[in-house]
Amino acid sequence: MNNEILEVIKNARKVAILIHESPDGDAIGSALGMLLALRKLNLNADAIVKEYPPMFKILDGIELFKDSSDDNYDVAIALDCSSKNRIGGIEIFDNAKITINIDHHNTNTSFATYNLVERGGPACCLTLAYLFKSWNVEIDKQIGQALTTGIITDTVGFRYNNISQTYDFVSEMIKIGVDVTKLYYKILTVNTKAQFELKKIAQKRLTFYHDEKIAFTYITLEDDQKLGTKTGDHEGIIEIGKDIEGVEVSIFARFTDGKYRVSLRSNNDVDVSEIATLFGGGGHKQAAGFVSDLPLEELRDKLILEVGKKL
Ligand code: AMP
Ligand code: MN
Ligand code: MN
Repeated sequence: MNNEILEVIKNARKVAILIHESPDGDAIGSALGMLLALRKLNLNADAIVKEYPPMFKILDGIELFKDSSDDNYDVAIALDCSSKNRIGGIEIFDNAKITINIDHHNTNTSFATYNLVERGGPACCLTLAYLFKSWNVEIDKQIGQALTTGIITDTVGFRYNNISQTYDFVSEMIKIGVDVTKLYYKILTVNTKAQFELKKIAQKRLTFYHDEKIAFTYITLEDDQKLGTKTGDHEGIIEIGKDIEGVEVSIFARFTDGKYRVSLRSNNDVDVSEIATLFGGGGHKQAAGFVSDLPLEELRDKLILEVGKKL
């Protein structure tokens, strides 16, 4: 598969690199890593990313991203997307003659012509690290910084899905000069003022269900408007409930684009991707999400019922 993908992109006139909407560090790191790798191979490619949280501006090379494009692309690569409807810039994907899907979600629907899916892998960025090695593309400091970003964010600072290969890769990256401590701080630890205020609100509203095994909280549109919330400012809210002793499943809902966007996290055996799938979303065993048209109370009650069945 790795060589077939390389052949396809080598024969392309122009390659589009796409990631999921509301991109996280894994999506952004994957797009940047892939763009830089294709440049090293002297291939013609654009990474089209409409918007991303401002903290990622520290990544070397991110200024190469295009926020839109009217170009024609014969090959499109979707990175870190579990299904086709998650892709930002789907029309570019639909217009491409050949499509490639590189991802790590259990729930990936193998929606492209070529599908390289490492189900259950810790980050799409780690899948790409192996892919680039198999292509004999040197992972230099710049590519390394991009890929390490996805590993730090998708494992939430090495808290989820830890496998020895992750540490082997990050160790290699430290050796070539990637400042992992700085990346960790700038991308994961530091809070914007709005983020800090949102966390206070979410903490105050947090409610427990089912013997305090489920934690639920939410942020309203009014909260976001009042605080001038930007993309990325909701990061970390879901962890408030997750990090309370005895909590099995943490749920966070926020209203955006006329719908509730729900995040789910599991500490142990509950597979939250199964619950997200019931509501039309997807994800991983311990981290999943979906969007819903339901009003908040109904959404909360239905979710508590479904999660309760799995406890
Ligand atoms: P989030 O809570 O947004 O950080 O998402 C957690 C995980 O669930 C990520 O791996 C996402 O890719 C996945 N996910 C979130 N929302 C959706 C959705 N609407 N459809 C499919 N997967 C989703
Ligand atoms: Mn992602
Ligand atoms: Mn990911």
